[in-house]
Amino acid sequence: MSRSSAGATRRAQQLRALHVTLDACTRCPLMIGPVVHGPAVASPVLLVGQAPGPREGGFGRPFAWTAGRTLFRWLESATGADEARVRERIYFAAVARCFPGKAKGGGDRKPSPEEIANCRPYLAQETSILQPRLVIPVGTMAIAEVLGHSGRLVEIVGATRRTSYHGVDVDVIGLPHPSGASTWHRTEPGIGLLASALELIGAHPAVADALAR
Ligand code: SF4
Repeated sequence: MSRSSAGATRRAQQLRALHVTLDACTRCPLMIGPVVHGPAVASPVLLVGQAPGPREGGFGRPFAWTAGRTLFRWLESATGADEARVRERIYFAAVARCFPGKAKGGGDRKPSPEEIANCRPYLAQETSILQPRLVIPVGTMAIAEVLGHSGRLVEIVGATRRTSYHGVDVDVIGLPHPSGASTWHRTEPGIGLLASALELIGAHPAVADALAR
C-alpha cells in the first residue's frame, strides 16, 4: 500500500470513529434527529452545508431533497461528476447535523448560536482529520461559519478566499444556498457570480485530485 493510500485509509477510519460519536449526539434538546452526515470519504475537499431539512434524516444523507438536486446539478456542471461520484469523492459536513424543526413563520428554523457552537467541535475534528485544501461552504450560514463573514453574498460568491479554518490553511469558494425559496442565484448579479464560483471549483486542483482517486 502506498503512503498516500495508507493515509487515506487511516483518515477514513478516523472519520468512521467520529461518526459513531456523532450519531449518538444529543447535545441540542430542540434538534430533531437522526444526525445526518455523508460517508467517511478521505477527501481533500470539504463541503459545509447548513442543516438538514425534514427529509434528509429519512434518506440518511445530506442534500437528499430538492435543494440537493440543484446543488448536484451545479457541481456536475462544474466538475463533470454526477451526484453519486461527488458523494463518493467529496466529504459532506454541515454547520448543524440535525433538523432544527419548522420556524413559526414557515420554512425551517435556523439553528441557534448555541446549537451551532454545540456542533462546531465535529467540524473541527473533521477538518483536523481531513486536512482539506478546499472548503466549499454552501449558504450564508455556512459561509459565516467558515469565513466569519456575515455580510452580503455578493462580497463572497465568485471569488476564492484564503483562510485558516480550524488551524488548516485552505482555499474557500462559497456557494449560495440552492434552496428553491431563494431567488439570489436566479437573478443578476447572482447568476454571474454563481457561474464564476462553479468555474473556480471546476478548475481547483483539489477537486481534480478528489475526483481522480
Ligand atoms: S445539531 Fe450537532 S451538536 Fe446538536 S444534537 Fe445534532 S449532532 Fe449534536
